Amino acid sequence: MSKQINVALIGNPNTGKTSVFNALTGLNQKVGNYPGITVDKKEGICKLSRGVKAHVLDLPGTYSLNASSLDENVVIELLLNKNDKDFPDVAVIVSDVENLKRNLLLFTQIKDLKIPTILVVNMADRMSRKGISLNIELLEARLNTKIALVSTRKNEGIQELKTLIENYKNLSIEPCLDTSTIDSEYFESLKKAFPNQDLYKLWVVISQDANFGKIDRNELDFSKFKTKSKSELKRLQQKETIKRYQFINSVLKEGQTIDATKATGLRAQFDRILTHKVWGYAIFFVILLTIFQAIYDWASVPMDFIDSSFASLADWIKMTFPEGGKFTNLIAEGVIAGIGGIVIFIPQIAFLFLFISVLEESGYMSRVVFLMDRVMRRFGLSGKSVVPLISGTACAIPAIMATRNIENWKERLITILVTPFTTCSARLPVYLIIIALVIPEGRFIGLSYQALTLMLLYLIGFGMAVFSAYILDKILKTNRKTFFVVEMPNYKVPLFKNVALTVIEKTKTFVFEAGRIILAISIILWILASYGPGKEFNNAETIVEETYPELQGEQLENKVAAYKLEHSFIGIVGKAIEPVIRPLGYDWKIGIGLVTSFAAREVFVGTLATIYSVGSALDDDKTIKNKMADEVHEDGTKVFTLASGISLLLFYAFAMQCMSTLAIVKRETNSWKWPLVQLFGMSLIAYVAALIAFQILK
Ligand code: GDP
Ligand code: MG
Repeated sequence: MSKQINVALIGNPNTGKTSVFNALTGLNQKVGNYPGITVDKKEGICKLSRGVKAHVLDLPGTYSLNASSLDENVVIELLLNKNDKDFPDVAVIVSDVENLKRNLLLFTQIKDLKIPTILVVNMADRMSRKGISLNIELLEARLNTKIALVSTRKNEGIQELKTLIENYKNLSIEPCLDTSTIDSEYFESLKKAFPNQDLYKLWVVISQDANFGKIDRNELDFSKFKTKSKSELKRLQQKETIKRYQFINSVLKEGQTIDATKATGLRAQFDRILTHKVWGYAIFFVILLTIFQAIYDWASVPMDFIDSSFASLADWIKMTFPEGGKFTNLIAEGVIAGIGGIVIFIPQIAFLFLFISVLEESGYMSRVVFLMDRVMRRFGLSGKSVVPLISGTACAIPAIMATRNIENWKERLITILVTPFTTCSARLPVYLIIIALVIPEGRFIGLSYQALTLMLLYLIGFGMAVFSAYILDKILKTNRKTFFVVEMPNYKVPLFKNVALTVIEKTKTFVFEAGRIILAISIILWILASYGPGKEFNNAETIVEETYPELQGEQLENKVAAYKLEHSFIGIVGKAIEPVIRPLGYDWKIGIGLVTSFAAREVFVGTLATIYSVGSALDDDKTIKNKMADEVHEDGTKVFTLASGISLLLFYAFAMQCMSTLAIVKRETNSWKWPLVQLFGMSLIAYVAALIAFQILK
């Protein structure tokens, strides 16, 4: 039986680890999860010559062995544990030729753990354009390693890498840095306390514990050893980093030349403008404005079409199937109305993600992250919080999962807590229908009031997120500062395929994930609205006829339908909460919508659609919007006015109405405390804001 060589691919994020992994393993790969945590584990098999096989592990991106994130911790834990079945026989450090200096820091650390190490210099195809040339032989000699110059894009150097892996036993395990030079006194005492241990490995374990609190190390007994305080350990880590960079600089000075004239090309000038203190923000703002305007103008055509199509479909079903049958009504009023409420928002969601993915693909989004770091710092957030906050415009769930690469726990927690304030796509349906109802259609210097309102709502959500982050930063203790390294990828013309895939995937997620809930709740609601307890509901016809003898035909039927709804199961719930929401300008029908929204916000529109189609028996050709516009209170005043509309918009902007988000926060923070804080905190803010808005505007 031939032995498998364990290979671990390690490197900074975005250096091409996964690309190298794909080149080595082809289709022989699978993705799993590291036990207990939600970091992807990718492993595969690479066939070498003479029947030898390598088991290849694609590890998460890591900047150094001074772990500060969950992802990095995975890598370090593996490298420290010789008994792990994945412990590498050979570590392949993947670096990016444009960022060799930073990449080499990790390389020297791993090499000093005395693990046989190969250096892959990837993206070799960029060298000539960037004016970079390398003296490979000299680098190999100085770094005491073997180097594979690779371009996964051009499929070059992979064969050489395979050969190096196969001959891993010839690699030197000579360290780059003498660990004791970091602090001779301290490391001398360490050596005495643990004479049988490797000094650098010991140091990594100790500094690791400083970063991640208690980690069980049964083989090492630190109880006898007087260790340093956290801040002293940090200082030593910094000293280590400085020493390593001194070494790397001296190596690169000889082994690498960069022709500076090419490096300061168009891109550098571009970046100066896009990340400029004033122009940077101005450009970002204009881009946002354009996007929201476009969502309105372009999406309105398909939306009107979908709206009227579903109205005629419901009509057609009522005409074709047995009249008045319960099943016909369920289909026409429950199912079709529910599906219509989902499908109508596809155009806008698709357009939004078209823009977002173009910005991401083109490389502009990284500039936004860089730009925003300056601002975010002040509010207790990290520049990396921009990604969750912006992804939050799609859905808080992936956004909260994206906080995992924020190193500092406090910054991460704050980001998790405030992300649900950003306007997710589930709010979009609610916003759109309320805006269409209560905001006039006019234009202000070429921009429609409605588009401006939508944009304002996005800004309010973002503003509230940042504001509450600031408050949380003051309330929550701990004071660690982190440094921020941002990747600045090259500008690229976005690949149509990538953009299209993102748009399709996001839209699909909305339709199937959110849509399932919306549809299910639409049907449940229809049932709850079509049945009721007691004689009030069951004898509605006779009661109404006796009370209003003057009513005839259509008017009578409307009155009966309304009376039935009021006494149905759902009417009872809505009425029960009416006293609480009356001061916000809502009636019991809106109350029903608020209750069902706790399953998911977008359900609100479907709920109202169902309630209003049930409520008016003969107006089935009307669209949801028209039905809502015609709603009146008992005294004849309109339900949806500017005051109640704004109040509703603010309520939806701030309230925590999403069970799935609460579930994910519970998972990510590993406690019920934080989701409950979110639920009650956000709902309170929402209630107060809606109350103030309605009382002022009415
Ligand atoms: P990882 O984060 O280290 O796993 O990196 P990926 O494999 O995801 O690659 C990051 C980016 O670099 C992607 O956009 C790749 O297309 C790009 N990339 C990877 N290898 C090469 C290469 O050899 N040349 C060039 N020009 N780009 C590459
Ligand atoms: Mg990867």
